[in-house]
Amino acid sequence: MTQYRLMMLGPPGAGKGTQAKRIAERLDIPHVSTGDMLREARRKGTELGKKAAEFMNAGDLVPDDVVIGIVRERLEEEDAAGGFILDGFPRTRPQAEALAEMGVELDAVINIDVSDDEVINRLGGRLSCPSCGAVYHEEAKPPSKDNICDECGHEGLITRDDDRPEAIKQRLKGYHKQTAPLIEFYEKEGVLKNVSGVGDPNSVTEAIVSELEDL
Ligand code: ADP
Ligand code: ADP
Ligand code: ZN
Repeated sequence: MTQYRLMMLGPPGAGKGTQAKRIAERLDIPHVSTGDMLREARRKGTELGKKAAEFMNAGDLVPDDVVIGIVRERLEEEDAAGGFILDGFPRTRPQAEALAEMGVELDAVINIDVSDDEVINRLGGRLSCPSCGAVYHEEAKPPSKDNICDECGHEGLITRDDDRPEAIKQRLKGYHKQTAPLIEFYEKEGVLKNVSGVGDPNSVTEAIVSELEDL
């Protein structure tokens, strides 16, 4: 059986989480999202969560050593032995280098391409379930019952603190400066797969799956 060690790259709001969940289900591999893990730590109020919260709320990246530590621990768990899909990590050059030093050789890096204007539109309308982390959009993907999570029934969908306009601007700036250079990094490694993130989510999923068929 093929082992899939995959990573989703792209600006905030590109649809990385939406797509990573679907790909993880199809391939039966764990979805490893640093954003989800950090939000969980923040919700529980752990030391790590407290440390990360101030950066996250401002739309800044959490320091590399913190994020590298949680990914290292997560990838050592048994369920990741047969492959995984990383979502939101690495986001900086030092993180990419740390991943390589852990001995992880990625089979494919899926780079989801969307414009800054689309990012602003998507994040501005994103609604999140504070209970299970499910993601909706006011216009593109409203929940079937107003304000109720389809996945877990929780009442009260929220706008993330970092989906406020000032934080969105900050995150886009951080993306262009720190994360976008990884496109070239992984292109040189020969594992980059570019996929347009525009259009209906199902068609984006199919485009990703067809890129993975060559592996
Ligand atoms: P997005 O929807 O912008 O892709 P995520 O849910 O992946 O957001 O991440 C939310 C926040 O968590 C980021 O803005 C950042 O503060 C923090 N974070 C997540 N992953 C990383 C990472 N690899 N390095 C540094 N900070 C991270
Ligand atoms: P990321 O993890 O890259 O930050 P998300 O998967 O959370 O991105 O998606 C960001 C927002 O855009 C969410 O509100 C989501 O419902 C919406 N979205 C995701 N994919 C699409 C798409 N193909 N077209 C329109 N909106 C989308
Ligand atoms: Zn929910």
